[in-house]
Amino acid sequence: ETAETGQQPEIKEIPNDNEDIELGYSFTNTGEIDVPPLLIDQILGQEQAVEIVKKAARQRRHVMMIGTPGTGKSLLAKAMAELLPKEELEDILVYPNAEDSNNPRIRRVPAGKGREIVAAHRAEAQKKAQSKTMILMFLMLGIVIYSVFTGAILLGIFICLLLLTVGRQFIGRDEALIPKLLVSNYNKQQAPYVDATAAHAGALLGDVRHDPFQSGGLETPAHDRVEAGDIHKSHKGVLFMDEINILSIESQQSLLTALQEKEYAITGQSERSSGALVKTEPVPCDFIMVAAGNIDALEKMHPALRSRIKGYGYEVYMRESIPDTPENRDKFIRFVAQEVMRDGNIPQFDEDAVKEIIREAKRRSGRKGQLTLKLRDLGGLVRVAGDLARADNAPFTTAEHVLRAKKISRSIEQQLADRYLENKKDYESFFKDGGEIGRVNGLAVIGGDSGIVLPILSEVTPSMSGAQGNIIATGQLKTIAREAVKNVSAVIKKVTGKNIEAIDIHIQFVGTYEGVEGDSASISIATAVLSAYEKIPVNQSVAMTGSLSVRGDVLPVGGVTYKIEAAAQAGIKKVIIPKANEPDVMIEDSYKDIIEIIPVSSITEVAEHALVDGPRKEEFLKKLEAALTPAE
Ligand code: ADP
Repeated sequence: ETAETGQQPEIKEIPNDNEDIELGYSFTNTGEIDVPPLLIDQILGQEQAVEIVKKAARQRRHVMMIGTPGTGKSLLAKAMAELLPKEELEDILVYPNAEDSNNPRIRRVPAGKGREIVAAHRAEAQKKAQSKTMILMFLMLGIVIYSVFTGAILLGIFICLLLLTVGRQFIGRDEALIPKLLVSNYNKQQAPYVDATAAHAGALLGDVRHDPFQSGGLETPAHDRVEAGDIHKSHKGVLFMDEINILSIESQQSLLTALQEKEYAITGQSERSSGALVKTEPVPCDFIMVAAGNIDALEKMHPALRSRIKGYGYEVYMRESIPDTPENRDKFIRFVAQEVMRDGNIPQFDEDAVKEIIREAKRRSGRKGQLTLKLRDLGGLVRVAGDLARADNAPFTTAEHVLRAKKISRSIEQQLADRYLENKKDYESFFKDGGEIGRVNGLAVIGGDSGIVLPILSEVTPSMSGAQGNIIATGQLKTIAREAVKNVSAVIKKVTGKNIEAIDIHIQFVGTYEGVEGDSASISIATAVLSAYEKIPVNQSVAMTGSLSVRGDVLPVGGVTYKIEAAAQAGIKKVIIPKANEPDVMIEDSYKDIIEIIPVSSITEVAEHALVDGPRKEEFLKKLEAALTPAE
């Protein structure tokens, strides 16, 4: 088992076919697959992280996990808690302090003892209260008898009422001395795992509740108002915190103190509450910290906190995909079995359904010969497919269910893209046929896994300022456009014989769209500009994606599969992609017949396929060819 050794299996090339997914063994349904009892053995693909977690659990070290959401960070943290010894668990009690009621006492006892102690105190208090009540009753009875005999009934009633009020307080005093069980590990089968992601200061560090009745016998004693924080609840266990960078700097500072001291006094977190007057003795919080986040979490993290974790622990970078080898595919069989088991309500998957999930894992990796490890999303697909099977009363979840699930379980971003596309169709802001000057159907990815057709318009006018040409673009397009135009300007100059200083170039996205990624629009921008300058129309049944080099080479970009699918959905007939991206194309079969994929490696080829045929085009292509061929 590779998960044990932490080694990656050697990579065997598997042809990138959409036809068949071969598995290492066959089975009728996932019910036959053994799911390992320990979480740490259920984690797939993250061998390095698994090794580190095992080591860190043995040595009680902190861990920092950096990587994409849904790749198993919190699962690893949970798994770590399972590996910690439960023998060390403790209960934490808070007692009233007779000398200073605003400084409650803290006591730690072995796990399970806390409950007993509180129960014993309660029994004691009840016994005392009972005898006090008896005395009170006798006293009152005496007074009643006495007052009846002497006729001073009114005085009797008055004394009785007085006795009752004073007595209640007197009796309640014992109740107020019962300690409170702050952290209980009674009957716990494993060390605690606490997810403190996005916890506010009170939840993280503990709090003292406000007391509206601060005197007069109705007040709740200070120690009773003390609440444990996540750092205390995770004592001897694991404190998991995702998105560590969004934690306020003050909280990060406090967390650092807690890590260093392994104890942290609890005080009221809101300044104007009566709780702020109270501060307990230090409360133990000897937890292991598992901090997580994406790569820019590192930057925004308190440097001292980061170096604490680094100095007393490990850092690990999560993998996003693994090689598509037979061994790794087999792990996905177990993954499906795990997810079905965890859900508990959906039918087991048959072999073809699992193959369909693996095919999707291939597609979602976005790279040739890889399987995605963004398993939270893939698990979502498993559940939706299972739900469909259940709705059908099917004995097993089949490939057909998975295919249907893929259609309906589209992410918010994908739905957004769909909506965007619908709107675009409404306004007919992009054309699917005919020729247009200065207008190109670009392609972009939004939300990481959704493609959209993004029309780009360009216009070229003589420079307004005369000497200095301008590139006029809005928003995010500005930087991308600058880059693209910079790269294409050499080409423009050679082809047109003019400096771009002499012209103003206007570029715009049709319909503003924020969140469009990267420079994959640069060949589209270049094509739009060249078309506008040369007044040669662009074929609107063509869409394109690709990055442009200074030399006119077309360089690879991300997300080609999603982009091609988006183009096909939009009714585009041909799509131009960088040649280097050819192996990454994993479009679904249904798209294969409706769209033609044209891999290219230079801007000349782009122009050849994108511009509308005619004498001007022929002439222009020659110029372009000559301009790009090195003179020497
Ligand atoms: P993260 O914390 O990285 O955002 P999670 O650990 O919360 O991701 O993963 C969510 C779910 O996705 C898990 O509960 C599990 O079902 C599944 N999952 C994610 N990564 C893995 C993995 N490497 N192995 C097995 N299951 C995984």
